[in-house]
Amino acid sequence: MKINLKSMKMMNKRMILRYLVENGPTSRMELSRFTKLTPSTIGRIISELSEKALVEEIGYSDKYQIGRKPVNVAVTKKFVSSVVFNVGVEQTTIAIGFFDRSIKEIKRFSTGSLKSFISTVNLSLEDVEKRYPLNHELTSIVFAFPGIVNAKTATVIYAPNLNWRNLNLRDVVKYRYRIIADNEANLSVLAESISSEDAKKSDNTFFLYVSQGIGGGAMINHQILRGSGFAGAEVGHTVVEAQSNIKCHCGNYGCLERYASLVLPVIEYEKNGRILDGKTYPEKFKTLAEFYAKGDKVAIDALEGFIHYLSIGLINIINTFNPEIIIIGGGFNKIWKYFGKSLYQRISDRAMPGVIDNMTFRDTHFDEIEAPVAGANALAIDVMINNLD
Ligand SMILES: [Zn+2]
Repeated sequence: MKINLKSMKMMNKRMILRYLVENGPTSRMELSRFTKLTPSTIGRIISELSEKALVEEIGYSDKYQIGRKPVNVAVTKKFVSSVVFNVGVEQTTIAIGFFDRSIKEIKRFSTGSLKSFISTVNLSLEDVEKRYPLNHELTSIVFAFPGIVNAKTATVIYAPNLNWRNLNLRDVVKYRYRIIADNEANLSVLAESISSEDAKKSDNTFFLYVSQGIGGGAMINHQILRGSGFAGAEVGHTVVEAQSNIKCHCGNYGCLERYASLVLPVIEYEKNGRILDGKTYPEKFKTLAEFYAKGDKVAIDALEGFIHYLSIGLINIINTFNPEIIIIGGGFNKIWKYFGKSLYQRISDRAMPGVIDNMTFRDTHFDEIEAPVAGANALAIDVMINNLD
């Protein structure tokens, strides 16, 4: 068998870069121990990678106490790995991500109509390109969407709450960088699975993305379940009221997201002329949750339907995917903190015996940095490493 030396060398480079992304600064000695490559091979690869400004020497390792401390190597922040647009129904966040997984939020803007959205995206990219070190080979522009996204072609097939269809982002973005798009819940489960200890260990993790709509991201046997038409785990459009005449944007009736999104309890609370603090539904929902925690009767009543239907949605997730962990987040990242006790009680009442005993339910640990943004940068880094030559 002919061994392809070039491809083997590439595999080693990728393995080293992945290790450095995941583990942070590492000495050449540790890299050699982990990869089983000789110290001279490691030395050669590290110099090649540093010539390309992908890695650099940074400080000393504390791991070995005897003798001279070895120098650590780390991935650089000399270029932006991703410019992320986390597209929400009301608001879009722009952030930049780096190779070491750090994130910097740049600004937020009103998502608006498709036309104004595309124009803001292009104008923002012009500004980002001037201010930050973007690189045509290494930087990706990543879009996170509430809806069904063909991740292979970067096409939004359908975003129900925005009513956008067949939007190929590679056609509308004027800049020559790699363009990636994915569903916000898929990116959220990806973010948790690389950064939280429990999700790293879990074979099956579910991220329930609750915002103006409801989405789902299922990591099954460490793979994101996308489905044949990219609509896998779209639990927001499972029916929770079979006789309902409440029509959903998706065309169906009685969908979970028509009953358990952050919108309905806010409308319910405000219907008699009360106004909650906040500009967007998620901001108003936060105010409502605080009233709930203080025992405000009107808030408790306004949230009853939300808690009831969310518990039904959770039971359906449990009975469909049987995950070890269900993580809840999205527009408001403290749902379990405020309503977990009540949700768990209702889930227990309906779950099959033994099924939820070893399950974990929790809020996402992302908050300041939005989970889809962290996932988008992680995906960009992965794609970049796979495309190195
Ligand atoms: Zn629906």
